[in-house]
Amino acid sequence: MKKTKRVLVCGAGGFIGSHLVNRLKSEDCWVRGVDLKYPEFSPTCADDFIVGDLRDPTICRGAVDQQFDEVYQLAADMGGAGFIFTGDNDADIMHNSGLVNLNILEACHRRNVKRIFYSSSACMYPEHNQMDPDNPNCSEDSAYPADPDSEYGWEKLFSERLYLAFGRNYGMEVRIARFHNIFGPEGTWVGGREKAPAAFCRKVAMAADGGVIEMWGDGEQTRSFLYIDECIEGVLRLTRSDWTGPVNIGSDEMVSINRLASMTAEVAGKVITIKHIPGPLGVRGRNSDNRLIAERLKWRPEAPLLDGLSKTYEWVKGQVLEQYSSDHG
Ligand code: NAD
Repeated sequence: MKKTKRVLVCGAGGFIGSHLVNRLKSEDCWVRGVDLKYPEFSPTCADDFIVGDLRDPTICRGAVDQQFDEVYQLAADMGGAGFIFTGDNDADIMHNSGLVNLNILEACHRRNVKRIFYSSSACMYPEHNQMDPDNPNCSEDSAYPADPDSEYGWEKLFSERLYLAFGRNYGMEVRIARFHNIFGPEGTWVGGREKAPAAFCRKVAMAADGGVIEMWGDGEQTRSFLYIDECIEGVLRLTRSDWTGPVNIGSDEMVSINRLASMTAEVAGKVITIKHIPGPLGVRGRNSDNRLIAERLKWRPEAPLLDGLSKTYEWVKGQVLEQYSSDHG
């Protein structure tokens, strides 16, 4: 009889973690989730869910009380530009996420966990390679000499090295993805931690046809956005592969932020005017370089941005309507 895989997902109450739990359950794994909170938008389908703070080493040891076949570490103090680029949250971001990674690795080492996935971010790439919005360099080997533009990126870089060190010294099979702007249904869409696609979906859903929405900066900065289903596919393929080095998991369909907003308006069938206002921005250009993932995993994300944006818009619109009806009785 086939042995049931036992899997731990840290950050299982968050956006990517909760989608990952669903996918693992669809593969008949036994899944334990751990997070400060349950998923916000639908009940978890994890077999076991620990509500706990992974900054506490005792909680980490309790969560890793057995030898899991796979551990996915997605817990982080995290948010969009309004949270990570203002500078106001730097101490918390570095301290909280740093502690989580230190504790989880120690707990996994004690239990002899062999395979662990860590979610890094494209924010660890050096700023000087991302000044030209039309031609950013985010190949995996461009990470050093390091110069991320945020403390969030520095913590990710430190933790990448921490995971690699545990791999070298203790024989752990470490897998590291550098995510590039993951989006989709059941992601944060309001409250200050939401990212650009969800924020535009909300603003467009709330605006009247012919209305105005605000955007930070001139909108000429570029990014790529990866739909959640392809992110999960990439995470599983990477974790179960033989490749140890960090790999980009992102889309290479680069668009300006102005284009992202106009695509959202198109999806909604509305004419929208953009008002540019000052705000936190991040680097000028960023795109996922997918050569390494294609070479090593024989797979790369390919879904068009417009498809994912349509699904996300419908979901955010539903949330906006739900909130409106609960606010107005
Ligand atoms: P998220 O904020 O939705 O999920 C992170 C989860 O970690 C949250 O549910 C949070 O409660 C939990 N958490 C934070 N501190 C904790 C603690 N001390 N103990 C227990 N749980 C704790 O974010 P996400 O978008 O799902 O991101 C998942 C991972 O991917 C993060 O590590 C993030 O840095 C990384 N990442 C995400 C993106 C993206 O675009 N979503 C891009 C790059 C990297």
